[in-house]
Amino acid sequence: MSLIVQKYGGSSVADLDKVKSVACRIKSYVDQGHRLVAVVSAMGKTTDRLMEMARDIHPSPPDRELDMLLSTGEQVSIALLSMALNALGQEAIALTGGQAGIHTSNFHTKAKIITIDPQRIFRHLNENKVVIVAGFQGMSSDYDITTLGRGGSDTTACALAAALSAEYCEIFTDVNGVFTADPRIVPRARKINRISYDEMSEMANLGAKVLQIRSVDFSQVYGVKVQVRSTFSQEEGTWVEKMRSMEDVKVRAITHNGNVIKVVFLEVPDRPGIAALIFKELADCSVSVDMIIQSEGREDKKDVAFVISREDDNRLKKVVDNLSRKVQFKGVKLDEAVAKISIVGAGIASDPNIAYRMFHVLSEQEINIDMISTSNLRISCLIPNSSINEAVQALHKEFIEDEEVSIHEEL
Ligand code: ASP
Ligand code: MG
Repeated sequence: MSLIVQKYGGSSVADLDKVKSVACRIKSYVDQGHRLVAVVSAMGKTTDRLMEMARDIHPSPPDRELDMLLSTGEQVSIALLSMALNALGQEAIALTGGQAGIHTSNFHTKAKIITIDPQRIFRHLNENKVVIVAGFQGMSSDYDITTLGRGGSDTTACALAAALSAEYCEIFTDVNGVFTADPRIVPRARKINRISYDEMSEMANLGAKVLQIRSVDFSQVYGVKVQVRSTFSQEEGTWVEKMRSMEDVKVRAITHNGNVIKVVFLEVPDRPGIAALIFKELADCSVSVDMIIQSEGREDKKDVAFVISREDDNRLKKVVDNLSRKVQFKGVKLDEAVAKISIVGAGIASDPNIAYRMFHVLSEQEINIDMISTSNLRISCLIPNSSINEAVQALHKEFIEDEEVSIHEEL
């Protein structure tokens, strides 16, 4: 009898009918002889709504209280799903993150899982119950409720799959899997059947919203096989797993992210230790940074530019405050009308032509590139937000559609 961890996202449990059909789906697995742990997100847009309520009351609500509030969304859905299963004659029990043994750091709103004590889950599984766990939350050593960052239910599911040594982890969502580009922008985008952890991690990092990045990293470290698939169909989804052969694909997907801000620290002193100071403040405030550029120095001064996620906007203010007490600089310039476009694939580093082709395609569209960053697995460019759709379409055509045509011609 295999043990499977499943995660149902907010759109999978958006209303009571959907909760009932998720219950039926879970029961069908149990009827086939599987043991099931289901991680559930808050219904529909509940978390966004709770966030708005908090902001109406306080412009930057205390993180601990925000966790107290946001975690209630998941509690509603686990209780309802457990009731729906019981109504079908399948015994089930709903557990909060803390009750499920998920211990986290006390960094509220972005807590990290420290350990999982799976005893209680195993006890209920041995009683032949389906165990329903609230996603996105855990408990700190002070018994405070913590949350794991937006999209954190994915991480709950993959971490539980690792802790329980589950056969695999299924992430149920409203799309059929991971696509070569956002199908709303590129109608010819297609589902990827198999993708490596590294590629998926890059894609999540670059703004593909199907999986929270930490869930991918967890899965890779513990060797959890993950399938991303749709709640609304039986179609097989995308497997995220260890891949030996890269199947000769150089660019696996085009990923974009409009949810970014360019930040420039103007005229910081040009001397050893300053970059370290800036990035220490950013790290202490848990602001993730990408695409760092330090300008040519002039008169002992330099500009330091980088890109952050819009979600970290509030934390950036704190960084600037802290920093202005420690160093002199002229000011901070923010540019919000930008977007990051990336090509991702395990073969990118091995072919120097790929960078040229990417920049060439963008120049043909007359898109100006502001910043560039690269890794073994990706090339990213910061471009004007207004050009993002054209850029995704043109790059998809160049690297995915035309590539498929030439592979078929070779065959
Ligand atoms: N409900 C949380 C969110 O909306 C966690 C999740 O859905 O994974 O971010
Ligand atoms: Mg999600």
